[in-house]
Amino acid sequence: MPISAETLQLIRQTVNRDRLLATARRLVDIPSPTCEAGAVADALAALLVEEGFQVERPQAAWPTSPAVVVRWDTGKPGRTLQFNGHLDTVHLPFAPSAVDGNRLTGSGASDMKAGVAAMVEALRVVRDSAVLGGGGILLTAHDLHEAPWGDCRQLNQLIDDGYVGEGVLIPEYTHDVLPVIGRGNAHLKIKISRPGEPVHEVFRPREEPNVLQVGAQLVQRLLDWNVELEKNSHPLAGCESAFVGMLNCGEMYNQYPQTCELQGTLRWLPGHAWEEVRRDYRALVADVAAKTGATIDAEFLLIRDAFELDEHSDLAATFQKVYANVTGKQLPIGAKPFVDDGSCFWQKKGIAAITHGPEAGGAHTTSEWVNIDDLVRVAVVYAATAVGFCE
Ligand SMILES: [Zn+2]
Repeated sequence: MPISAETLQLIRQTVNRDRLLATARRLVDIPSPTCEAGAVADALAALLVEEGFQVERPQAAWPTSPAVVVRWDTGKPGRTLQFNGHLDTVHLPFAPSAVDGNRLTGSGASDMKAGVAAMVEALRVVRDSAVLGGGGILLTAHDLHEAPWGDCRQLNQLIDDGYVGEGVLIPEYTHDVLPVIGRGNAHLKIKISRPGEPVHEVFRPREEPNVLQVGAQLVQRLLDWNVELEKNSHPLAGCESAFVGMLNCGEMYNQYPQTCELQGTLRWLPGHAWEEVRRDYRALVADVAAKTGATIDAEFLLIRDAFELDEHSDLAATFQKVYANVTGKQLPIGAKPFVDDGSCFWQKKGIAAITHGPEAGGAHTTSEWVNIDDLVRVAVVYAATAVGFCE
C-alpha cells in the first residue's frame, strides 16, 4: 500500500529522538560481548515490558541469554514485518556511551545497539500512532552473532522455531545501498603437526615431516585455489576467494617445530553451495596431508552462507518507495560487503531480508559511532515500511 503524506507526517511526529537516544544509550551502557548478552537482553525486555509490550524470552539454544521477542499485532488481516537485531558486541575493551554533537559513541553503538534502539522506536511509533491498518510487527533481538565467538545458533533456532515474519529489516550499519547480494563466508583454521617433541634442529627426526614446509605448501595451494575462485565473480558482490591471514610456526630460529597453524577465509557467491566449497577445501587439505605425511586438522567454520535479495520483491519495492519518500533520494542497489543475519532468513526460509541502518562507523573497533539524525531517519523508514508492507 502506498504511504500517504499524512501518514508519513504522523510517523515523523511520533518518532521521539530523545527517547530513541536514551534507549540506545541504555543498551550501549551494558557490556555484552558475544555469548554474554544476557544482561542487555534482560534490560531490553524490561524496557519493553515497562512500555506495555508483551515480551517472550525464548532460550533458542542459548539459555545464558534468552532472546527478546515482541509480537505486536493489529488483530486485522495483513502481513508481519520482522525487525531483527543482535545485542552482542565484539570482544574489545568496553567503552560506555557518550554523545558528542550528532554522534553517539560507545561499544556496540554502530554494531548494532543503536540500530536495535531504532527498531524499538519504530515499534513504539507503529503502536502509538495507530498507522497500521492490518498485520503486525515481530521484533527479535538475540546473542551469538559475532564471529568467531558466536555461531549464529540462537537466531537459527529462532527461525527454526517459527519466530519469522514475511519480510525482515535488519538495522546493521549499511545505509547507502540496498544490498541485494552478498558472499558467503567461512573461517578456516588449520593445524599441521608431527608426532615428535620440539627439538634442536640438528637432532631433528628425518622421518618426520617439516611442519613449516607443509604450512608453506598449504598456503601456496590455497593461493593457487584463490586464482581459480576469483574467476567466479559478480559485478556487485565481487569474486569468490581463498585468503590466508595468519601463519604461525616455531618458537626459535634453530628449533625444529612440532606444529604450524594457519588461518584464513573462504568467500563464495550465491548459487555455489557451501557444502561444495567445504568439500573442495577438505580435498585440498587431504591431498597435502597425503603427499607430505603430516597430520593436518582442518576446520571449516561456517560464518554465514551467501545472500540474495530480489529487488522486485514486495518488501524491497515497498522499502525503496518509503526510502525515497522519506529522504527524497533513490537508494542505489549494491552488495553487502560483510555477512550478516539476512543470509539466515534467506537461506533457511527464502524470506526477503533487508539490511539497512544508520550512517555509522568504527564497527569492530573501540571507536564506534552512529549519526543520531540518521538513526531517527531509520526509525521513520522502519515504521513507514511496516505500513506499506503489512497492510
Ligand atoms: Zn552487527
